[in-house]
Amino acid sequence: MKHYSANSGNAIPRYNKTRIIATIGPATSSYEMLKKIIKAGVDVCRINFSHGQYASHLEVIDRVRAINEELGTHICILGDLQGPKLRIGEIEKGFVDLKRGEKIILSTIKCIGTKQKLYINYQNLAKDVKPGERVLLDDGKIELKFTEILNDTEVLAQVIVGGLLTSRKGFNLPNSNLSVPSLTPKDHDDLRFALEHDVDWIGLSFVREANDIVELRKIINAHNPRTRIIAKIEKPQAVKNFDAILKVTDGVMVARGDLGVEMPMQKVPIIQKQIVEKCIIAAKPVIIATQMMESMIENSTPTRAEVNDVANAVLDGADAVMLSAETSVGKHALKTIQVVEKVISEMEVNANPYYKGIKPMPNSPTFISDELCFTAVRMSEHLNAKSIIGMTHSGYTGIKLSSFRPNCDIFVFTHNHSVLRTLNLVWGVRGFYYENEESTDKTISDALDVLKERNFVKIGDIVINCASMPIQAKQRTNTLKVSVVE
Ligand code: PEP
Repeated sequence: MKHYSANSGNAIPRYNKTRIIATIGPATSSYEMLKKIIKAGVDVCRINFSHGQYASHLEVIDRVRAINEELGTHICILGDLQGPKLRIGEIEKGFVDLKRGEKIILSTIKCIGTKQKLYINYQNLAKDVKPGERVLLDDGKIELKFTEILNDTEVLAQVIVGGLLTSRKGFNLPNSNLSVPSLTPKDHDDLRFALEHDVDWIGLSFVREANDIVELRKIINAHNPRTRIIAKIEKPQAVKNFDAILKVTDGVMVARGDLGVEMPMQKVPIIQKQIVEKCIIAAKPVIIATQMMESMIENSTPTRAEVNDVANAVLDGADAVMLSAETSVGKHALKTIQVVEKVISEMEVNANPYYKGIKPMPNSPTFISDELCFTAVRMSEHLNAKSIIGMTHSGYTGIKLSSFRPNCDIFVFTHNHSVLRTLNLVWGVRGFYYENEESTDKTISDALDVLKERNFVKIGDIVINCASMPIQAKQRTNTLKVSVVE
């Protein structure tokens, strides 16, 4: 049973192992709504820097932190940088109806969009594209083809597949070679804001190669080195360079929206599965994103295919599933979370898909502690243990234990609030604040007291403690203790 009920003290929400990320927007940004969705199962609040203003982002950050205080939760914030995302500008009256065969100018000079001309935010457009190349708008729903480079700032295109186009929609140039930096001036500003406000995870959009992450890391390290990075995989180049990207990032997002536009859609499911598996082996959290409950933006129930999509992400062992417009602007944001939570819960209670038994690498610098974590998980299966309890300074033990996807609970104690929040994105790890580091014995017994008091373990349960001795040395896990709760 992986579904915990509320404890006797603080109003701790119900927990699943697979985490839920909700993008926060007008539908969810009020204090009351944030509290409701967090109580319904949200673990991570995503701020999408593609939309909104700093004032409203800051309100969300402050509210989430206040709710953490109120509920005793560790909800973390994922700040998602727009990256070199190409977008059209505002459109007169909000939309245009583009019809097949019509001609339209794409201009890099700011203007209010009409049926004749649209502003796009890609200054090198006229230099980088060629007649015959395709433009995909609004996640590929609308397709244009470039027909003529008119001048340095304008390119003419013809509508191949028409439709209603609304303001600020994204566009992709799947056949063009783009000369854009991985961090735009806007990303630099957004990153500064995120680091100033102690955002826990930073998502980088349109990663193309490992160096994109290395460059981001340099800036992060200079300001707030605790901040972790999610590489968003949404370009064919990122799929090609994935192994190198995985080595330097802290986590990954399968950003299926743009990935399914930039690459043939039918390739996305297998890429998703390969990425999830590689991330689990590398002990790096992986998020499945986009259109998971798309129909619930409008409807109060999901399609059966959407239910299956969430269920499959759980079966694959993804760390988190992410909701975008469903929770930022959707009509049924809370209901969507409740549905996702139910699907995850059902899968986790009735399926046992995770334990892959992937052995630690002897040549790894963390081999000894990795082997201990691996052994703890293997023992937990053999002994039918109720929980594995870890101590961590950096969060590493929590992430490593999680990567072996045990069937039992993973509880992690740390004196670092930032680590607690970071771990809230990680599969199955439940963090507790603990600062008394007198001795390993005392820490183990205090941890058990906390878990007993909160009904996470009961008398007779077998538990496995991963600890570090001597505690003052602050080393990685080097000790395992198995006990029966008294
Ligand atoms: C995506 O493309 O799937 C995605 C998550 O990115 P964004 O929502 O930033 O467009």
